[in-house]
Amino acid sequence: MIVAVDGPSASGKSTVSRRAAQALGFIYVDSGALYRGVTWKCVKEGIDVTDSQAVTNLLIRMTMDLVLTDNAVGYVIDGEDPGQEIRAEPVRERVSDIAAQQSVRVYIVEKLRQMTQFGNLVMEGRDIGTVVFPESPYKYYLDADPEERARRRAVEIQQTEGTGDVDEVLSSLRRRDQKDSSRVTAPLQIALGAKIINSTGMTIDQVVDTIVSDLKKAGVVS
Ligand code: C5P
Repeated sequence: MIVAVDGPSASGKSTVSRRAAQALGFIYVDSGALYRGVTWKCVKEGIDVTDSQAVTNLLIRMTMDLVLTDNAVGYVIDGEDPGQEIRAEPVRERVSDIAAQQSVRVYIVEKLRQMTQFGNLVMEGRDIGTVVFPESPYKYYLDADPEERARRRAVEIQQTEGTGDVDEVLSSLRRRDQKDSSRVTAPLQIALGAKIINSTGMTIDQVVDTIVSDLKKAGVVS
């Protein structure tokens, strides 16, 4: 069984999906982390993320091995775990350019589909309900007002980097949302049949409860 959770940046998908997976006894997958991993590798190797030929060549020569740890699927690239570096500014500002490339999407979608080998999944991203697992009956689209999302993300960045200006975060989010929604391949869209949850003004617990109760009602878990 696959629970698909899509939505824009900082809509609360990660925390909510991780917690929902825990409550359901499912495995958690952060699909954005894979796009960030490819971006991290480009930055490390000095590859221009808009140079599609160079990026495609990188995908041919690198390995990305999936690893199951603590009920979440992670990966190593050429044997290396990028850790928190995938959250830092050089990756954050380039990841949407990488994610817009066709060769990258084919590569990552294949990896995401392979993850069913680990068991039932709660997978969050931008195209999980539309492209990766469109046949799943369990789809959610999580949203929140841009200002609320920027406030939430600024708090996270302050915790990891010591600084995080809400206005700067807001314009960075808007740039990323715009690229993610307007790209030709697999743009961020509400999947057919997805339940929309606007989490502005809701606590994490309330959002998790909404999803878990809905899945219980659907008979996914007892
Ligand atoms: O979810 P997160 O913000 O970590 O995702 C980083 C970026 O990866 C997004 O801005 C988007 O460009 C890309 N992404 C995607 N499809 C997914 C997940 C993430 O294009 N399923």
